[in-house]
Amino acid sequence: MVAPNHRNLKSDLPHLRKKAYYIRDVQEAIAANAKPDFISRLSSDDRNWALTMIQHPGQLGSKRELLSIVNRWARIFDKAFYFGQGRKRISKISVYASNDGELSEEAAGFYNPDENALYVRLDDPKATGLRYMSTTVHEMLHAFLSYHSCTCAAHCKKRVMPRSKQRRNGIGGNAIEGHGPMFMNPMTAIFRAIGEAFGVVPDPGLIYSLMEEMWTEKWQPRPDQFERWGFPYVSLDEALQVGAQYGAITDDDDGDEIVGDDEGGVRVVCNIM
Ligand SMILES: [Zn+2]
Ligand SMILES: [Zn+2]
Repeated sequence: MVAPNHRNLKSDLPHLRKKAYYIRDVQEAIAANAKPDFISRLSSDDRNWALTMIQHPGQLGSKRELLSIVNRWARIFDKAFYFGQGRKRISKISVYASNDGELSEEAAGFYNPDENALYVRLDDPKATGLRYMSTTVHEMLHAFLSYHSCTCAAHCKKRVMPRSKQRRNGIGGNAIEGHGPMFMNPMTAIFRAIGEAFGVVPDPGLIYSLMEEMWTEKWQPRPDQFERWGFPYVSLDEALQVGAQYGAITDDDDGDEIVGDDEGGVRVVCNIM
């Protein structure tokens, strides 16, 4: 059932509107669209380029080089997974290094919904071509969910608000700023499609994003969710122990990966451990 103010996503595709849909519908459409045959829709140029990039063994030399690579990935993934609607919704794609100052020194990248901008970190200590690719498609998913999902108070707020406003509500966090179910469903579908198409494991760190969501939100996902996402079952206790190793998080802490105030200016910092 579609309540007033919530448009029917399937009848709007591919011309989606801003903040017009239940996030449940947005994530479901992305997950259903994530198929390994996306590779057949790429030009042979793009395909060869992609293969070369994901085999790149280490960190890139310059921001300029990384920026052009991230931009090309964004064009490719736009076609592959985001209905040709993803790239044009992002107002800025940027790269940064940890010595730039205020930008996070721990993240692989982040998305800032306030300026609708996507950032990838050059000197991610574990950077390879594959990780830069994974970070780009991951931040694009935050951007796509953020741009298109309704945030109305009546129906949607509790699934899309910053965590600080909805902690311990038992639903496992939100998707736009966090890595709850509405994020993990489409993300794992996309990584599976990329993995099958290119014969790689895109982001072995994604389970840490999930565990971080668990220890921050005190959230225990169901066994069938772990199965759908392709992860071994992790209990909340185990996630809390991992969290403690990484210096997280007291009960009164809102989580260190969200920076900003409650009304905007929040940015999503995506750690990959
Ligand atoms: Zn709504
Ligand atoms: Zn993220």
